[in-house]
Amino acid sequence: MSYHETTSTDPLTGMIQLIGGRWKLMIMRELTAGPRRFGDLRRSLGDISQKVLTDALRTMEEDGLIHRVVYPEVTLHVEYSLTALGYEMTALLRTMTSCYANYITTVENIERSPRQAEAAAFYKTSSAAVTVDLPDYKTRIQTAKALMAEADYIIAGTGSGINVASNINLFDKKTAKRLFPAYYEQGFNCIDDMINAFSQISPENELAYWDFWSEYLWEFRYRHPASQAHLDLFHILKDKSHFVVSSNADGQLEKTGLDLKHIYLPLGSYSYLQCAFPCEEKVYDAQPYIEKILADTDSGIGIRPESIPRCPSCGDYLVPNHYRCRNVSLASADRLAHRKDFLNFLNHSLGKRVVFLEIGSGFRLQNIIRRPFEDFTRKNERACLIRINSKFPQITDERLLEHALSFGENEAEVLHDLAYEGPLNPTDNAHP
Ligand SMILES: [Zn+2]
Repeated sequence: MSYHETTSTDPLTGMIQLIGGRWKLMIMRELTAGPRRFGDLRRSLGDISQKVLTDALRTMEEDGLIHRVVYPEVTLHVEYSLTALGYEMTALLRTMTSCYANYITTVENIERSPRQAEAAAFYKTSSAAVTVDLPDYKTRIQTAKALMAEADYIIAGTGSGINVASNINLFDKKTAKRLFPAYYEQGFNCIDDMINAFSQISPENELAYWDFWSEYLWEFRYRHPASQAHLDLFHILKDKSHFVVSSNADGQLEKTGLDLKHIYLPLGSYSYLQCAFPCEEKVYDAQPYIEKILADTDSGIGIRPESIPRCPSCGDYLVPNHYRCRNVSLASADRLAHRKDFLNFLNHSLGKRVVFLEIGSGFRLQNIIRRPFEDFTRKNERACLIRINSKFPQITDERLLEHALSFGENEAEVLHDLAYEGPLNPTDNAHP
């Protein structure tokens, strides 16, 4: 071990000597999940020459970051693994990747979104005109129902608006007080603030972290039955060829009975936990873990350290499979499979009669549903967009005007009227 050579009086310089350069961090990442053979490492790292890899491994071994073990088998093989010192440094990888994820999200939002203030100003000036031009509510409901009845495919997208309309608002005091009174008492004004406070797990906050998340997941994923708005959406979709993409992770869609195979959740799902690192693209059913923690807290003893969910593969924390939990990245195997199915479905729908049913999806995260749905509608002559959004119902792209219908009414009420007879009572049933 040559740590004396690499130790510098300036800790940052020392660290850069230890793990700087193009490959050392990558090698550490490869070794996090367990020992690896030389050839295997080289293949995973891709564009690295034998000499460069040999040199990097040798220096890391000398610095005490990795072990090298030679197995004198028939064909001699060499395995590398992290030492305890080396493993400790993988904390850096987590922090770096998590910082990078935040950076990318921020940059993307700045680049792609029209400035929110600008968008809001536009809606203020145009809303009067749009209200005048729109057919009355009953006519729009009838038109929307006819469009959906004739459609070959319905592709629905749900954002936070569908939950707000069902009285689940992450941004108001009332919901925070009603659902999480203890945290509200501690000074958290809304659920979104709580999520921010518990977005990252560490040895210092692991008990508080799981105290919050176990309660949160239980409340949102398990305790609440499917909301009426989601049941109505199910009713609209069930007999049509459909797909749903949602930025909500709360399991409401699957609770209605919609087939998971037709649901794409790009931001993750509260139904699962994943390795915080993650060492593998794998997710675990959240329920047994949550039940174990809740049993601890209910019994009054508080969360036992052994109830803290741990990755069966690498021993790191398991955390909710959701983008707001700032783990390194979302485990993506399942997500990518559904994404592929979703894109296939979209491809099949080209040239067919498609209704894009967009519900409560605003400008926060607009690249998940709102923007793509507009793009998809423009790409298909026979497609139309039905936008239900009590905050931002307007269609701003002129090219879409003839292919779009919009509702600025309450999302839950519109869905109910679309699913059933709605406001059309017998006396009200005169021709428009
Ligand atoms: Zn792991």
